[in-house]
Amino acid sequence: MNTFAFLEKSAQQRPDGLALVQGAEAITYREFRDRALAIGGNLLAMGCAPGDRVAFCLANSPRIMELIFGCFAAGLVVVPVNARLHAREMAYIVSNSGAKLLVHGAEFQEGIVANAALFEGIKRICTDEAEGADNFAALLTKENALAAGAEAQPEDLCWLFYTSGTTGKPKGAMWNHRMIARVIMNYLADLHNIQPGEVVLHCAPMSHGSGIVALPAVARGAVNAITETASFEIDSLLATVEKLKVSHIAFMAPTQIVKLLEDYRPGVHDISTLKAICYGGAPIYLDQLKQAIATFGPVFVQLYGQGEAPITITGMSGQLHAELLAADDPRLGSAGQIRTDVEAHCVDENDNPLPAGKAGEVVARGDVVMPGYWNNPEASEEALRGGWLHTGDVGYFDDRGFLFLLDRAKDMVISGGNNVYPREVEEVIILHPDVANCVVFGIPDEYWGEAVHAVIVPRAEGILTAKQIIDFCGEHMAGYKKPKAVDFVDALPVSGYGKILRREVRDKYWEGRASQIGGGAGTKGSQT
Ligand code: AMP
Repeated sequence: MNTFAFLEKSAQQRPDGLALVQGAEAITYREFRDRALAIGGNLLAMGCAPGDRVAFCLANSPRIMELIFGCFAAGLVVVPVNARLHAREMAYIVSNSGAKLLVHGAEFQEGIVANAALFEGIKRICTDEAEGADNFAALLTKENALAAGAEAQPEDLCWLFYTSGTTGKPKGAMWNHRMIARVIMNYLADLHNIQPGEVVLHCAPMSHGSGIVALPAVARGAVNAITETASFEIDSLLATVEKLKVSHIAFMAPTQIVKLLEDYRPGVHDISTLKAICYGGAPIYLDQLKQAIATFGPVFVQLYGQGEAPITITGMSGQLHAELLAADDPRLGSAGQIRTDVEAHCVDENDNPLPAGKAGEVVARGDVVMPGYWNNPEASEEALRGGWLHTGDVGYFDDRGFLFLLDRAKDMVISGGNNVYPREVEEVIILHPDVANCVVFGIPDEYWGEAVHAVIVPRAEGILTAKQIIDFCGEHMAGYKKPKAVDFVDALPVSGYGKILRREVRDKYWEGRASQIGGGAGTKGSQT
């Protein structure tokens, strides 16, 4: 089945129901379907053939959903590009995917022109008038509109999802119609059962998790509402929740939930319609999650997955959050349980399955797993060896099948022969009342091999010393896990998708090795 059929059905069942809303713009399901059929037909008329890739780099707007479904309708492969990337990074994805056509916002015109050689031979469509590009309106003319969505086989490719590239160059995980149908059905069954007419709000990039959660909303005939401001601003977000009676926030990175907690002003907006806030993409610290539930109620829904197995390998519904919190169960700090039609377990370095409680790499299998990376057979074979997706995440399942994620395999620190997972240490440091944020990683050390190192954002300058942090850790964890040194900074770097870039902080300490140990560039000071 072509994923376009989900839109076709909602347009039939709720033709006048709202489908896409942003500011004053409101598009019904009938209009959404017609616009997608026009876009599909015009893309073909512009020279794209079924199976060709069409990239887009757009700030959140209804155009994203129209393009995605326009590509589905025409049998094309959509390639979403994170709108926060630099033009050169965008060019890498456009070129790696072999995209024929790029649809972009007017704000990218300058960067594209400045790097014109990298975009040579790519047909461009811009949301506004722009030199060298057609206008988006050209995609909406009715003469070329398709009468219906193309026939598609379940294994036909329809989406290339570029990994966020927190390590190395992004790779294009291939998604087909079968995978997306599984994502949609299991989202509704396991995580949150969106109802027709409910309002799902997007405030995170729709080229990533939020855009994927938009798919079950389309399948259910719900409203996909999109915030207007490019920046993430809590007051206006909650004003939108009140105005549109939002029932569901599609996706938030944990960094956004922390901001929500920091900037929330109780009683200013009526947000009682909110039933679900989905989060994932990076770890949330247990203490922050508890605060969030205490403030907003049992509305949080966790997703754990990756571009290679979209949206969920494991998940935690709102109800499960509530039950675990009520029982003061530490499983609240887990990434939940395996979703209904996915198999997953942990393996050792020789791919042998590990029993409950033993840490190793998380592997997963099921229809939600990609068939491979685009044009990259070596990486595909490595990731999918033995028929299991090797996630690169280290964790363990407990006896009730809850997954505790420790870290990315590559981030584990080996100090004096002991394995230390940075997240375990971060979970403790964040409990300190004067700590706003932190990252932990290993740095080269002649004696220990690697030494555990913490970089901390204090709540105010000068209120914390390294000794206080190290002593605090000593009260909660084995001595070998305690940071050997601590640096303080004003802020931590965050990716376009809201993930704290631990690697970027860490790499500064590995450049030029010994001379950098104990005092990274750009830090306010270092004490051991
Ligand atoms: P991406 O492909 O950009 O979605 O990144 C996927 C990676 O983000 C996973 O392999 C994990 O390392 C991390 N991740 C995703 N969801 C969670 C979660 N709920 N908790 C902790 N880490 C997560």
